[in-house]
Amino acid sequence: MSETRLREEICRYGRSLFERGLTPGSSGNISLRLDDGGWLVTPTNASLGFLDPARIARLDAGGRLVSGDKPTKEIPLHSALYETRGSAKAIVHLHSTHAVALTMLPEIDPRAALPPMTPYYLMRAGETALVPYYRPGDPAVADAIRGLAGKYSSVLLANHGPVVAGDSLEAAVFATEELEETAKLYLLLRNLNPRYLSPEQVADLVKTFGLELPSLARHEGHDHG
Ligand SMILES: [Zn+2]
Repeated sequence: MSETRLREEICRYGRSLFERGLTPGSSGNISLRLDDGGWLVTPTNASLGFLDPARIARLDAGGRLVSGDKPTKEIPLHSALYETRGSAKAIVHLHSTHAVALTMLPEIDPRAALPPMTPYYLMRAGETALVPYYRPGDPAVADAIRGLAGKYSSVLLANHGPVVAGDSLEAAVFATEELEETAKLYLLLRNLNPRYLSPEQVADLVKTFGLELPSLARHEGHDHG
């Protein structure tokens, strides 16, 4: 896909996310890794609903601004996730309500923020890590993401929002949406004793779709049967 086309894609997905209320005001940002090692990044203080393809920041492989507006101050989030997930081509970060709400609940497991509720959550978002609160733009958040060692494509920042990597912009957007909807389901069902997917059902999805879930790597050798 040409760079012109990729810039248009960022604007199109940004507008779609904004118009559905998935990230308010000038919150949220999107980045895309280009074949030459450089990136396209949405500008600082820009609403995802009103992006101009020509003003998207173009960075070189060293992270220096080549053209366009000044990039988002949340660059450290993006660079840390790209650094640890070699296959990532695009990253979406939103301030989506249900995912943010989830991060404030006391029972959340930082290595699996959501239970296995639906197959599409597991297939698109996998499992989700939760990292502690950091002030926006604090470079220490990058260390927290690096600490996950690239095992998670989706990460929640406490009291802030999700950061999700994908092997294409579409994949990253779809995974972010799946994470947000699953957080919403969790909040709807909290304390209602819902039936989640069983370990057998999860194992079947893992086998059929070749999913790489961090928890399975953690419990290597654990027999789900
Ligand atoms: Zn943010």
